[in-house]
Amino acid sequence: MVVGRLTRAVVELVFPAQCVGCGSSGVFLCAECAAAMPRADGVRCVRCWLPGLGCRLCRDAPPAFDQLRAAYRYEGAVPELVRALKYRGATAVAEPMAEAMVATVPREEILSDVIVPVPLSGMRKRTRGYNQAEELANALGRFLGVGVLPRAIERRRGTPPQARSRNAIERLHNVAGAFHAGEADLSGRSVLLVDDVTTTRSTLSACAEAARRAGAREVRCVTFATED
Ligand SMILES: [Zn+2]
Ligand SMILES: [Zn+2]
Repeated sequence: MVVGRLTRAVVELVFPAQCVGCGSSGVFLCAECAAAMPRADGVRCVRCWLPGLGCRLCRDAPPAFDQLRAAYRYEGAVPELVRALKYRGATAVAEPMAEAMVATVPREEILSDVIVPVPLSGMRKRTRGYNQAEELANALGRFLGVGVLPRAIERRRGTPPQARSRNAIERLHNVAGAFHAGEADLSGRSVLLVDDVTTTRSTLSACAEAARRAGAREVRCVTFATED
């Protein structure tokens, strides 16, 4: 952890704040580039936020969460921002990302008793030093005034990162059971799961299952971006 923080401090010294969209200096995301990010809006499944009408996923293999919302599509400056959160000065990038999420997703869609980040695998966290979803969850918690429980859900040892080659329903079965409830008691609470990007909804669904096993009454999810 100390090494992680130190690495970050060094990274921020070597790479001073620069807008990921246009390169202007001083901030990680300038106001113009923030306003130009493509919103994940339009006609979408009210439950899993996939685009279009008549969602096949929710019909054939409903996810374990009650609702998912994503602020942006994975286009334009969005992938740059996600990469910056993952590999560079995370805390400085998490703030403007969380701020943009709160400005884009209606507050009543993300109200909850407690915020829980999607955990990174132990090995990835050790090599990178931090979990980008946790950084985002902490920043979001500050904006919403909601507490964060970073270890309420844990990843089981030896679970590989989700394969991307199969279809959505197969992947849903693949990661089922990949997470377990941590030390926190979520009994009767509404939980907001937070991640940076959602691709297949399977990881979030597996986390939601773990949250339900820990007693959660309601599980909503919010991510900065969706790859649809
Ligand atoms: Zn910019
Ligand atoms: Zn759906």
